[in-house]
Amino acid sequence: MTRLGAHDVALVGFNYTMSENKELLDAIAQASKHGIGIVAMKTQAGGTIKPDPKLPKALPPFSQTALLKWVLQNPAITTAIPGVTNFDQLEQNFSVTSGLAYTPDEKSFLADKEIKAQVEFCQQCGQCRADCPKRVEIPELMRAHMYALQYANYEHAYRTLAAVPPAAGLQACAGCATCSASCRHAVNIARKIAELKQILPAHECRA
Ligand code: SF4
Ligand code: SF4
Repeated sequence: MTRLGAHDVALVGFNYTMSENKELLDAIAQASKHGIGIVAMKTQAGGTIKPDPKLPKALPPFSQTALLKWVLQNPAITTAIPGVTNFDQLEQNFSVTSGLAYTPDEKSFLADKEIKAQVEFCQQCGQCRADCPKRVEIPELMRAHMYALQYANYEHAYRTLAAVPPAAGLQACAGCATCSASCRHAVNIARKIAELKQILPAHECRA
């Protein structure tokens, strides 16, 4: 990218759960140094709105502003496109334009060592694919899980799953007694797949 000089801007998934991803941090720093604008997406790590009441695991409360400030404090980031699903989130996002310094509450949120593990954000690295004997498209399933469980956008989850070839989709998991895929970034793949199977049929997902 840098050598060819072909791109002016890159859209990059970037959030607090990636704070120890040195490869990514170096890549965006290098790109920025060479004049490429970095637009951060997925800044809120999928967010939390209304976890499905049928599921036992509640997502932790996120500090919308702490997550967005953390992204924007990185000098390599040109701008961010945090998603919003309601006016409250919109107001919180706009509030950071008045200053990126953390409040005491935001500092405590970011200092909580459990947060990253609880968020279980799939970084779409794809490394878990090789663990699966059926070569299921686990990153796409994890993305669908985020849309269904965190965005509460079941239609988007359905479309994501429908784009995966059936032999590598959600239904391909059916024969496994236990999931042998393990995540390099603390995502509980087996639980998320089980939740997808539990939730999506209830929302008339045919994927
Ligand atoms: S449950 Fe089985 S088929 Fe599904 S992702 Fe895990 S290892 Fe692969
Ligand atoms: S589940 Fe984990 S290993 Fe698999 S793509 Fe996502 S972050 Fe990577």
